[in-house]
Amino acid sequence: MDTATADIDVHNPADGRPVGRVADHSAVSVADTIRDLRVHQPEWESIGVRARAEWIMRFQDWLVDNTARLTDIVQSETGKTRFDAEIEVPAAIDLAKYWARNAEAFLVDEKATPHSPIGRTKRLVKTFRPHPVVGIITPWNLPIMNPCFDAFAALLAGAAVVVKPSEVTPLSAVELGRGWAEIGAPPVFTVVTGRGATGRAVVEAVDYVQFTGSTRTGRAIAVACGERLVPYSLELGGKDPAIVLADADIDRAAAGIVYGGLFNSGQACISVERVYVEAPVYDSFVSSLVAQVNELRQGQDGRDFAFDIGAMATSAQRDIVQRHVEDACAKGARILVGGKPTGTGTFFEPTVLVDVDHSMACLTEETFGPVLPVIKVADEAEAIRMANDSTYGLSATVWTGDRSRGERVARSLEVGAVNVNDAYANIVNFALPMGGWKDSGIGARWGGASGIRKYCRQQAITIPRGPALSREPLWYPASRIR
Ligand code: NAD
Repeated sequence: MDTATADIDVHNPADGRPVGRVADHSAVSVADTIRDLRVHQPEWESIGVRARAEWIMRFQDWLVDNTARLTDIVQSETGKTRFDAEIEVPAAIDLAKYWARNAEAFLVDEKATPHSPIGRTKRLVKTFRPHPVVGIITPWNLPIMNPCFDAFAALLAGAAVVVKPSEVTPLSAVELGRGWAEIGAPPVFTVVTGRGATGRAVVEAVDYVQFTGSTRTGRAIAVACGERLVPYSLELGGKDPAIVLADADIDRAAAGIVYGGLFNSGQACISVERVYVEAPVYDSFVSSLVAQVNELRQGQDGRDFAFDIGAMATSAQRDIVQRHVEDACAKGARILVGGKPTGTGTFFEPTVLVDVDHSMACLTEETFGPVLPVIKVADEAEAIRMANDSTYGLSATVWTGDRSRGERVARSLEVGAVNVNDAYANIVNFALPMGGWKDSGIGARWGGASGIRKYCRQQAITIPRGPALSREPLWYPASRIR
């Protein structure tokens, strides 16, 4: 029975070329898919974590063998440059290795020290048992990394997994589903394509929801999960600040912030979205930043790394960026570089704005585009105060010649992760918990032991030590107690 309601056409946003078509799966189709996963999950759980790790490593081999082809697909559905697209499959490969190597240690039973008012000592065991079916709902910015980051952990935990990729970039995830089937792995990993309604159907039928996407959709998912009393974790939007202190290596800080803000055309949750620079180095920082941004080449290449900055994933996202720049200019901002859409497709010029303040959308709302607004601050204290003046709290960067100062500033920022003298370092260090504070996220974090245990329900077991007594101290009759 064809349970898809219609098809979704996928285009390369850099030139509008059609690049594929996927089904728009109905709620009935999603429910059927999840019912099938439930049938196969118990066996997947029962084979044990070592056997599951072997399947993840076989899938990792498949990723290695298909890297170039998958990267082509990523480029074609996102409009990215080769440079930006190339990061995805290798990151997923490394991550598969990390989880496969560590899963057993992260999931091993834990002992607890007995402490009970009723005396007799028992052996206490904490076990980690999977949520049977995990739904992973992903955005369009990193179509291989986003699903893989969570799917590997959930599969290793023993869950069956359904991924619902963004309707904007579904082709990469569909390939991942094909790859899992191609290696002959148990049918516990599948991909359902569709729009928001398909995502809602996933939320209605799974036992745990992992959502990465906008804060607005995240709130709706939290409400739906609350109704069902189903656990969830949300990785949401950001407005990440960069703080440049006067003792920083200014050219290096500018280079790091150019990459931190413009990687993926600024379409990354942990993109640098605003820059605070101590007054003594403001002028030299801005001139270095402008010079470096002016050197970037924009366009979409093939496999030859000809360009630095690609297209935006959608015209709607490009329009948000344009609105933010126009709003800033209407309120007195000056454009030093870029500032407008360019070329065919959805390109927006890499942009540097100055004379900006917190009354402007580009300093308060998530831009998710290639825009770097720069503010001069009197000192470190003002930089911290302005960095913390945000509803978001995903991550931040601090640029300084003094590492202990960098760490001190990091500890005063209201964000889930801080990189000192680097951008993106936290997301490629898989042992660290990754996740936002405030409107940037809620729930268990991605990375390290918590990144796999979040897909488990903890079970507490007590077992008598030595021979069982005929009556435990609290059992009836009460007359036994004198
Ligand atoms: P989005 O919220 O519009 O969509 C994300 C996914 O949710 C899509 O697959 C969509 O089809 C689905 N969806 C939409 N409505 C739904 C509903 N009611 N129930 C269930 N699913 C639904 O986000 P987007 O525009 O695709 O992605 C951009 C956003 O993602 C940005 O805000 C960015 O900051 C965020 N993001 C966050 C992280 C992070 O780790 N914190 C990483 C990447 C992107």
